[in-house]
Parts: sequence; C-alpha cells; structure tokens
Amino acid sequence: MTKHGVVLEDVAAARHFSFPPPRTTTPTAGGGDSFRKLAAQVDLGAAVVGSWLDSMKASSPRHRLMAPLPGAADAEHDDWMERHPSALDRFDALAAAAKGKQVAVFLDYDGTLSPIVEDPDRAVMTDEMREAVRGVAARFPTAIVSGRCRDKVFSFVRLAELYYAGSHGMDIRGPTADPNHHGKAADSSSSVLCQPASEFLPVMEEVYAALVSRVEPSIPGAKVENNKFCLSVHFRCVEEAAWAPLFELVRAVLRDYPGLRLTQGRKVLEVRPMIRWDKGKALEFLLTALGFADADKDDVFPIYVGDDRTDEDAFRVLRARGQGAGILVSRFPKETSASFTLRDPAEVKDFLRKLVVVNADADTNNS
Ligand SMILES: [Mg+2]
Repeated sequence: MTKHGVVLEDVAAARHFSFPPPRTTTPTAGGGDSFRKLAAQVDLGAAVVGSWLDSMKASSPRHRLMAPLPGAADAEHDDWMERHPSALDRFDALAAAAKGKQVAVFLDYDGTLSPIVEDPDRAVMTDEMREAVRGVAARFPTAIVSGRCRDKVFSFVRLAELYYAGSHGMDIRGPTADPNHHGKAADSSSSVLCQPASEFLPVMEEVYAALVSRVEPSIPGAKVENNKFCLSVHFRCVEEAAWAPLFELVRAVLRDYPGLRLTQGRKVLEVRPMIRWDKGKALEFLLTALGFADADKDDVFPIYVGDDRTDEDAFRVLRARGQGAGILVSRFPKETSASFTLRDPAEVKDFLRKLVVVNADADTNNS
C-alpha cells in the first residue's frame, strides 16, 4: 500500500510530551548526523523529567484508584459528567442521532474492551465482550484501533470480520473474512491497507533490542513490548521510585535515534516514528477506505470508543468533522474531546449490546 497522506516531519504536538523536541527539517528513518548533534545538545533538565513523572502519575490507574473516592471531588465529577454524559444514560438520544445513518464503530482495545492488567500479555477480553463486538460487526463496519501490534491485538480479539489498526494506526488491515461488509478492503486481494511508517521497521527493531538490553535488566518490573511500528515500555509493575530512572534510561536510548519520538499513555512510555500519523489519522483513513470520505456528514455516524490520551486524536477528528460520537472510557474526570463517557469495559459491553438492538429497530422502521 502506498503511503497515505504522510508528511515526514515531526508533529510531536504539544498535547503529547515529546522527546526529542520538534524539528522543522525532514528526517531520515535512522536520523542523520545533524540530528544526532541536535539530540546531543538537548538537555531537557530536571524540570522536564518532573513533568514527565507528574504525567506518568496522573495517567496511572493505580494512582487513580488510590485517589479519594467521590466526596470532596463530587462537584468536579458532577460538572464533568454534565459536560460528558454517560453514553448509556443518553443512549436514546445518541441512537436517535444515528438513526438512518451508516454507523461505523471504532474501538480501542486496552482499557476499553479489556481491563488494564498488570501483565500486558494477559489483557484478554471476555467471551461476553467478544460476542458483543461480533454482534456489532455483523451490522456495522467495525475496527479495532490499538497501540498494540496488529497481530497481538488480533490474537486477543480473534474476529476475522473486523478491521484492525495496530501500532496506533500505523499498520491497518481490512477484514480477512466476512461477507456482510462491503468496504473497499473486502474486495482487495491484499488485506493490508496502510503502513505509513514501513521504512522505520529496521530502526524500530534496533531500538527494541537496545531497550530490552538496557531497560529490562536495570529496572525491575519494566517490560518492553515490540508493537512493530511502536515500542511500548510498560511500567505497570515498576516501583514508583524507579520511574525517573526508567524515563532517563529510555531517553538515553533515544538520544541516538532522533527520528523517533517518545509519548506516554496509561502506565506505558511509547516510542514511535516521527511521522504525521496517529489514531485520528487512522480513523480518517478507515472512513475513506470504507467509502465514506465524501459522504455528507449527515449520512455517516462514526462512533469511537477509547480510554487513552492517544484516543483523543480520534475524538478531535470527530469533533472537527461534526460527525458521530466520541466516547471516553473513564471513571474519573479528565480533559477530553469526547462527547460522552462510559465508566469501564463492562459498560462498553452494555453499550455495544444496546447499539445492535436499537439500530435493528431503526432499520426495521426505515424499511
Ligand atoms: Mg486504551
């Protein structure tokens, strides 16, 4: 697949912490001497390390779970829920808005379809959740959009009728089985639709090896995961006292690879190619692949469900298009561009089950 609207420049947006800082020239996959010099000159200092640590703590489920229960924070929570109401409580209004439109469903995986667990290799989804997703996919084009390696997330979900966008959307594949959908991908002899960072593969392998050899032996509990176009350094099982050394180690490895950038998700540091691509771009690509690029915004109703700050890129796309609904999975108030919220994967499952039933009614009424 040819590159799709990719600009090879840093877009380390302010919404993500980023290292190295933004550049204006075009990088090569491995980075040139000038970039190495630039990286060597960069010293973000203790203040930036502190900012990273604050962000790592703020996004940590454990810290959230240890936070005071609603009481003192009730007012903040109530205000937040008023601005981002429950997609279950407002389901009738949401279904009415979707009625008569082509619904397309986009689902993050970790923290959305499966709970966040200590061992990322054990983040399996329940059979009930799989059935709920299968039910939705039988009616609407459905995609999993995950930071995980595409093969890994497929091994968890095991539904061949879905679209899969792995590595934060840098590795997109269409359904390998399903007669119900009629997106362009279904007719393609190759199910791989988009790999905008393919030239970075060798350097990602190199950095993966460097992170495994330098981080895992030094930081107890740290786990480096190769997600093909994205490397994840999980710190779910790392003592908080070791978070700063962990960050410093990862930063030290990346000094030699200025073509890459560092971002942070829920209990994970992530290394990605510096290309203009994220889950929002993946969402736009998939809508195009489904044939909805030129559709009137009143014809299509994309629903995107995710729990992570990386999902905010997709929520912003929906807001910008004035289309569909972004749903953040979170129990706690946080800044978001999503319109609605769900508390946890159990509520996501309930929402997906309702989505199938109500739209079946709508179809009957329309026919
Ligand atoms: Mg997630």
